[in-house]
Amino acid sequence: MKKHLPDWPKTLKRTKPRLKIFAVLEEATEPLSAARIAELTKSPDKKSWYSTVYRVLNTFLEHDLVIKTSVSGSEAQLFEINRKDHHQHYARCEICDQITPIDICPIEEITDSLDGFRVMSHRLELSGVCRHCDEVAKQA
Ligand SMILES: [Zn+2]
Ligand SMILES: [Zn+2]
Repeated sequence: MKKHLPDWPKTLKRTKPRLKIFAVLEEATEPLSAARIAELTKSPDKKSWYSTVYRVLNTFLEHDLVIKTSVSGSEAQLFEINRKDHHQHYARCEICDQITPIDICPIEEITDSLDGFRVMSHRLELSGVCRHCDEVAKQA
């Protein structure tokens, strides 16, 4: 998923932690919590690494490189790459909290039928049971 990536701001220094965290966000197929990002980029010096991740994420937010996302029912604050004009919807599993990206946006089809009405924003959140949890439930 290398599409629609934001440009690295010229004023932002490419430090090692920043590049590492950006790479993880770039590869992610779902929004990640700061804790998860810290885990994925893990560093031997664990304690201060977590605060580094937090600092870097805030810097990314200030530079519009990432956006904060909330997925309904999930408490954690999640971060994902700011794909600008491209947006992403998600389906959340009510049992294991796994988040699955939805590849299409049905709103785009709806707006075609709105006779010139310009939709400026919309929300679409799906929740349900993922395939894994569904299979576990069937075996029980
Ligand atoms: Zn599940
Ligand atoms: Zn949409």
